[in-house]
Order: sequence, then C-alpha cells, then structure tokens
Amino acid sequence: MMWKISTAALHVTAVAATVAHPPFWPWALGAVAANHLTVTAAGLWPRSSMLGPNWTRLPDTTGADPSVAVSIDDGPDPAVTPRVLDILDRYDAKATFFCIGTRILNQRELAREIVARGHTIENHSYSHPNYFSLLGPGAMAAQVNGGQDVIAEVTGYTPRFFRAPAGLRNPFLDPILCRAGLQLASWTRRGFDTVASDPDLVLQRLSNRLGPRDILVLHDGNAARDSAGWPVIYEVLPRLLERLAERGLTPVTLRSALSAN
Ligand SMILES: [Zn+2]
Repeated sequence: MMWKISTAALHVTAVAATVAHPPFWPWALGAVAANHLTVTAAGLWPRSSMLGPNWTRLPDTTGADPSVAVSIDDGPDPAVTPRVLDILDRYDAKATFFCIGTRILNQRELAREIVARGHTIENHSYSHPNYFSLLGPGAMAAQVNGGQDVIAEVTGYTPRFFRAPAGLRNPFLDPILCRAGLQLASWTRRGFDTVASDPDLVLQRLSNRLGPRDILVLHDGNAARDSAGWPVIYEVLPRLLERLAERGLTPVTLRSALSAN
C-alpha cells in the first residue's frame, strides 16, 4: 500500500513538472499534411466522433427506464460543490462529476464525499489546461494519466470516462484513452454556465428538446454567478431536475449506463 501511494505521489510530481513546462505540439515545424489538418480541425469540434468513439448521448438500452445523465464539471469546489450535493440529494438524483486532478488534491474530503453520496467522479484531466488540444502526446498522456492516478488514489475508484478540457482534443488522445481504458464523453447539450449568468437562459439551453439519453453539462467549478452573486447552478439544477421528473426521465450516472450497455 505504501508503495502504491508513493508511486502515485511520484507520478503526480512528474505530471506537475510536465504540466509546468508543456511541450507544445510543434504545429509550425512539422510538415503537416493538409489531410492531417482537416482531421485535426474536425476532431477539435467537441461533439465530433471523427477521432474515435465519443459519447454525445447515453447508449440505447431498449427496455430500460428513460434516463438522462447530468454531468457537473471543473470541481470539486469547496464553496459550491457541498450545496450542489444537497440539491442532488433533495431530488434523489445521481450525477457524474468530471473533476480536475489538482482540485481533488486540494479537496480530498470533498471528493470522497461526492462518491460517498452515490455519485461518480470521472477524469477531466490533471490540471485542465486551456491549451489541452495543442499538447503533444507525452504531455497529453500526463494530463490523462495524472487525473486518473489522483482520482484512484483519493477515492479508490478508477475513472471509466474522460472529458477533454473545453471538449477540445487532437489525434493523440484516442490511443491514450484506449490504453487507460477510458471512454471519451462529451455531451448532447451544455448550458455554457461558466460564462452565462442568466439561470433562465442556461436552463433553456439544457432543456431545449430534452429527451431520453441526453447528456447535459453544468459546472460547480468555474461557475458564473447570477445577478444575486450565486453560482448559476444553484438555481438551474433544481429546476432542471424538476423538469426531468415531469417528463419521467431518471438522472443516472454515465457509469451506470456503461454497465447497463
Ligand atoms: Zn472543464
């Protein structure tokens, strides 16, 4: 056990060093074929499947109860996540938290609390760099594997899903995910609630054509504040969960859909 923890700690240190000096993919230097550029541009689009399998909806499990996955990104955040957990409890809803490795390292207890309350934590990279899609294979692998190691070390659960920061990726990502046993997951719709401060607008974006198998995205980390200064998710999440209940849609985790598949 000690060996495992110190190995994980070493790995995390190595990742931190890599992240501090990210070797950018030398876009300008390589003789990049036009075809390659096209594939890259198409794959950068978050909901594209061109670079490999990518969940934009839950799998079709005929006969199962109609369900929706609510995913909550960029935490854990000590100021926001606890209340989000209380809201989920109030509606007996389960969610998928795409957490950032460095934030988990600062909020170990909160990460364990998320799992203890029946939700799942999945991998949203080690440090959520905005330039994720520009990383070379080594730095990208460090982001994926670093996030994976932190979550396993802190919660005891190995993530099964990866969501790229901002949803953007490049051709290196698919083999890295494959080696780590991770399924790429994006979304059906997102509320853009890191920038939109109007809860009505965020809710409308998420529930426009709401239906079975949708994957929706909200944020507990980096959450925009509404006119009263509260994170937008505080108002949007209860109203969204009520809307799901009205339509007979059960909120489930991505992982439960994986095992049902
Ligand atoms: Zn994010």
